[in-house]
Amino acid sequence: MTDSSKNLFQLAQAGKYAIPAFNVHNLEITKAVLETAQEMQSPVLLAATPGTVKYMGEEFLIGMMKAARKKYTIPFEVHLDHHENVADIKRMIDMGVGSVMIDASHHPFEENMKIVKEVVDYAHPKGVLVEAELGRLSGIEDDMSVDEKDAIYTNPDQAKEFVERTGIDTLAVAIGTAHGLYKGEPKLDLERLQEIRAVVDIPLVLHGASGIPDALVHETIRLGICKVNVATELKNAFVAGLRVYLSAHPEENDPRKYFSEAITDLKRVVADKITMCQSAQKA
Ligand SMILES: [Zn+2]
Repeated sequence: MTDSSKNLFQLAQAGKYAIPAFNVHNLEITKAVLETAQEMQSPVLLAATPGTVKYMGEEFLIGMMKAARKKYTIPFEVHLDHHENVADIKRMIDMGVGSVMIDASHHPFEENMKIVKEVVDYAHPKGVLVEAELGRLSGIEDDMSVDEKDAIYTNPDQAKEFVERTGIDTLAVAIGTAHGLYKGEPKLDLERLQEIRAVVDIPLVLHGASGIPDALVHETIRLGICKVNVATELKNAFVAGLRVYLSAHPEENDPRKYFSEAITDLKRVVADKITMCQSAQKA
C-alpha cells in the first residue's frame, strides 16, 4: 500500500489509462480477477462494498489479500467501495486495506466535506488512498437505491473546493453514468468532465461504467478518468456461466466443477475490462 498505491494512480494519470476496480464477492471472483490481471500484467483494485465486507467477513477479505500478495506480482489493493461508516473504514485501514472510498455524497456539501476530511486525516498518515464522491449517481449499489430524478451531476466549481479542502486522492464524478444496468442509451456529459478536469488536477473516477461502449470510456480516460469501476458485468458473467453449466449438468454437486464455466466467463469479462481501461502491460 502506502506510496505504491498512490503511485498507481499517478502512473495511470501520466500514462492516460485507468486502473480497473473490480467488485469481488468470494474467492472464485477474486482469483479470476487476479489471475487475469497477472496474465495481462495490469494493476487492479479489488473493490468491496459494505454489503460484500459483511458477506465475506473482514478477516477473510484481508486474509485473501495477504495470501494473494505471495502469489501475484502485479500491483493491487483491496479498495473499500461506497463505504459510509467512518468507524468501519478506520478499523479496516488498521487491518491493512490500502484504498478506501468514503461516500458521504448524500449529505449536504459542507457535511460531506467534514466527513471526508476526517477519513483523509486518518488515512493519509498510514499511506492509504481516499476516494470521495461529489454529486449523486442514479441506480442501485449494494442496498442503496437512487432514483433517476434524484441523481445530481458533479458541479465543477464545488469539485475544485471539495478537492482543495478535503485533500482527497481521487474524486468520483457524476456525469450521467448509473449504477447497475441502463434502461436506455447511456448519455455522458463529457463537457462537464472537461470542466471538472480543468479545475481539479487529481485522478477522477468513473462509477457505473457497465454498459458504456468502450470508445466512450476511452474518451473519458482521455479527459481525466483514472479509475473505472466494474461490478454489474462481473455479476452477470458469473451467474450466466453458472446457469449454463447447471442446466447442462443438473445433477452436478461439485463446486469445483459447476463453478468452472462461471470462472471462464468471469475471466473473459475481466480481460475485456482491462483492455477497455488500457491498463494491460502497465504493472
Ligand atoms: Zn459506485
